[in-house]
Amino acid sequence: MDFRGDKRYNNYTTYIKKTFGNRVQKISINTGFLCPNRDGTKGVGGCTYCNISTFSPSYCRPKKSIIQQIDEGISFFSTKYKAQKYLAYFQAYTNTYAEIELVKELYTQAVSHPDVIGLVIGTRPDCISEELLDYLEETAKNYYVSLEFGVESTLDKTLKLVNRCHTYQETIDAYKMAKDRGIHLGAHVILGLPGESRREIMEHATKLSKLPISSLKMHHLQIVRGTKMAKQLAETPEMFDLFSVEEYVDFISDFISYLRPDIILERFISESPLSMLVAPRWNGLKNFEIVAKIDKKLKEKDLWQGKNYVKCN
Ligand code: SF4
Repeated sequence: MDFRGDKRYNNYTTYIKKTFGNRVQKISINTGFLCPNRDGTKGVGGCTYCNISTFSPSYCRPKKSIIQQIDEGISFFSTKYKAQKYLAYFQAYTNTYAEIELVKELYTQAVSHPDVIGLVIGTRPDCISEELLDYLEETAKNYYVSLEFGVESTLDKTLKLVNRCHTYQETIDAYKMAKDRGIHLGAHVILGLPGESRREIMEHATKLSKLPISSLKMHHLQIVRGTKMAKQLAETPEMFDLFSVEEYVDFISDFISYLRPDIILERFISESPLSMLVAPRWNGLKNFEIVAKIDKKLKEKDLWQGKNYVKCN
């Protein structure tokens, strides 16, 4: 199906409208699960760019029940938008990293809410099992289920440098395990991680296009307070080549052209709270303003998603 609408790429808004027929709002849920990259199982200290407080809205706190978080999320958003239905978004930390029975129980509670039509689960590619995928496959027969893996980079040298504590092969293996189960598969990638040349970053588009993903979230590297990267930026700024707005808009328009044409593009930039952001500041430009610039740039350069995509095995 085509989700372009009036854009030069498959966009998430059109996808949601065509799939559900009306506006759908994601409600962030905090399970309080830990992360294997912080508790010593895979690593300590976490990924060098991660400060968990940048992605936990105030209405969700791990001490609250799932239903309470959903109810509070609905009352928060219902004053802003007339959303009809909601997706429970298991976003913070690693949302499959706990005893499997507990994980299943929390997901089951979320979909039992009468206004929730599905789940969106963010996790690491090395934190998934056949047993959990079997459960999600079963759940996907009655609800929308989206599983998003943090790919972040397709290069092992980068994954090592940012202390991800998993390899790109583990990412490929996770998608192999999860595909063909009726689960919507998504990916996150960070563009501009240290040590990657612009050409290497562009090559992520080709490699990501080989994964069995339905949607992609692109994030430009933002360095936030309280992270190892903030310290590295202060001490060794030469490690970083952060995008300016103009450079990013130009770059991402080419990046889009190398992506497989059927992937739904859900996001183009990161949006850390300004109070947490160290660099790049981009004059506080909002998401919709950047998207408008990208749309304009695609037109100017006569590019569209898939224009430069080459199918290879
Ligand atoms: S980005 Fe995810 S995997 Fe990395 S430290 Fe943060 S919560 Fe853990």
